[in-house]
Amino acid sequence: MTDIPARSKDRPAGSKTIGVLGLQGDFREHIEKFRSLGAHTKDVRRARDLEQIDALILPGGESTAVAILEKSEAAKHIFEAIKTLGEEGLPMWGTCMGSILLAKDIEGSTQGRLGLMDITVHRNAFGPQRFSSETPLAIPALGTPDFPGVFIRAPLITRAGTGVEVLARVERGIVMAREKNLLATVFHPEVVNDTRVHEYFLGMI
Ligand code: GLN
Repeated sequence: MTDIPARSKDRPAGSKTIGVLGLQGDFREHIEKFRSLGAHTKDVRRARDLEQIDALILPGGESTAVAILEKSEAAKHIFEAIKTLGEEGLPMWGTCMGSILLAKDIEGSTQGRLGLMDITVHRNAFGPQRFSSETPLAIPALGTPDFPGVFIRAPLITRAGTGVEVLARVERGIVMAREKNLLATVFHPEVVNDTRVHEYFLGMI
C-alpha cells in the first residue's frame, strides 16, 4: 500500500518548525505562543538559520530600524534569502512591523522592505499611540467570538491587490490580509490570550 502524504494542514503542530526572525522586536511572545500549541520554533538571526524551517514569522518592532540593519552586509544576506524563500512559497506571517516588511508599497517612504505582498501600508496610521489600544475584531476565518486586536503604533493596509484576500478590517482600513503563502496582521495576536491567529497560520503550513 502506498503512503498517502497527509495534507499539510493536517500535519500535527509537533511536526512543524516555525522560524522566528529575532533581529529586532517582540519575537519572544511568538515563540511562546507557538510552543504552547506544540510546534517547534527556531530563532532566526543569520541566513543559515533559515534552513529546515517550515514557516517564518516577521515580528513586530520598528521597521526603520530593520531597514537600517538591512544596509549591513550580513543583514542584507538574510533579507535576500528571506525574499527568495517567500517567492518560493514558504509560509510567512508578518505582524505589525512585519506587515510593513512584507508590503510592496509603503506610503510616503522609500525604506527597505521585502516587497513580497501586493499591499500598500500606511505606517503609524493611528497616530502616535504611546500605549496599546484594544479593539474587538470580527474575523470570519476565525469564527466567533471577536478577536482581541491589540494595536501598537500600528500601520493600516490601505490597498490590497486583486490576489489578496482581506480577512479583517476596521472602519479606516484593512487589518488582516492573506496572499497565498503570506499573512499580514497589523495588530499583535502574540500578546493576547487567544491563539486562533497562530492556529490559523499553522493551518497554512
Ligand atoms: N510603528 C512601527 C513601524 O512603523 C511598527 C510598530 C510595531 O511593530 N509595533 O515600524
